[in-house]
Amino acid sequence: MLILDESRVRQLLRFEALIPAMERALVDFSAGRVIQPVRTVIAPTADALFAIMPAVYGDVLGAKLVTVYPDNARLGLPTHLASILLFRVSTGEPIAVVDGRLITEMRTAAVSAVATNILARRDARILAVLGTGVQARAHVQALRLVRRFDDVRVWGRTPDHVRLFANEMNARPMSAEDAVRGADVVVTVTGAGEPILRGSWLTDGTLVNAVGAVGAARRELDADAMRGAVVVDSRAAAMRESGDVLLAQATISAELGEILGGLRPRPGGRITVFKSLGLAVEDLATARLVYEAAVGHAP
Ligand code: NDP
Repeated sequence: MLILDESRVRQLLRFEALIPAMERALVDFSAGRVIQPVRTVIAPTADALFAIMPAVYGDVLGAKLVTVYPDNARLGLPTHLASILLFRVSTGEPIAVVDGRLITEMRTAAVSAVATNILARRDARILAVLGTGVQARAHVQALRLVRRFDDVRVWGRTPDHVRLFANEMNARPMSAEDAVRGADVVVTVTGAGEPILRGSWLTDGTLVNAVGAVGAARRELDADAMRGAVVVDSRAAAMRESGDVLLAQATISAELGEILGGLRPRPGGRITVFKSLGLAVEDLATARLVYEAAVGHAP
């Protein structure tokens, strides 16, 4: 069995291949071609989560096992760590264990790039990022591949982290409100459990990629921000795991894969929120891509 650690994943995985792979996975998911229950989440300590994310997709089956330990940031460790186990679907043979840290980072940003490509205005120029961590950086990288942003704005709660991010990513530090007002695309990528984005700052035509706040009692957006079209990665997951959707009692317009696959129309004109929770099929498809690049043939 192959073991692929993070440095090997880094050598083999590129956004250019990952973004179209995520688009295919989302289309297949929403067309019913993936077997995937909503993940099981347990709490090993008061502040941490452990999730088990299984799926069967195409020629592979497997699961991502992921831990979320927000306090790791103070220890200089990643807050999200994972392993992905990959099996051959035809025989049930385990074929690889793939490190899931960088895959989680990149597949999440790649999915937001897919959403941005289909849901954001074509002439989008201004990107506002709320958050300064791993996902914030990956999102700037990935979203720059689908739109030409000439103004990237950033807000975060820790001034030192904002400065570092701004220098690294060529972004302009601002208050959350100033960053969001007039932005074409907004990304929320914080560990906040209470709203950090107000609907009153948004105008019609803006796309919000809402990526943090995983959990029924957590949200990054206030109810007013959820008043427009709400697109989710998975309806079943959103109804169980998204406080942004549940607490605002928002109506879900479509799954992203339904719009990509032509099953539902692209919402236009209004504020659009893409609520991302993260799906096992995204992890499996990414691990498969890495596996194929490593061995030179399909599983
Ligand atoms: P990081 O730990 O790298 O970064 C977390 C960021 O959130 C930091 O900028 C941190 O600020 C900020 N933050 C934490 N708590 C608060 C708060 N109460 N108010 C405002 N800002 C806060 O995590 P990631 O970048 O990997 O993840 C970001 C979010 O995205 C998390 O909620 C995570 O669970 C979620 N996520 C979602 C995925 C999906 O598929 N939808 C996949 C992976 C992650 P500071 O540096 O000042 O502490």
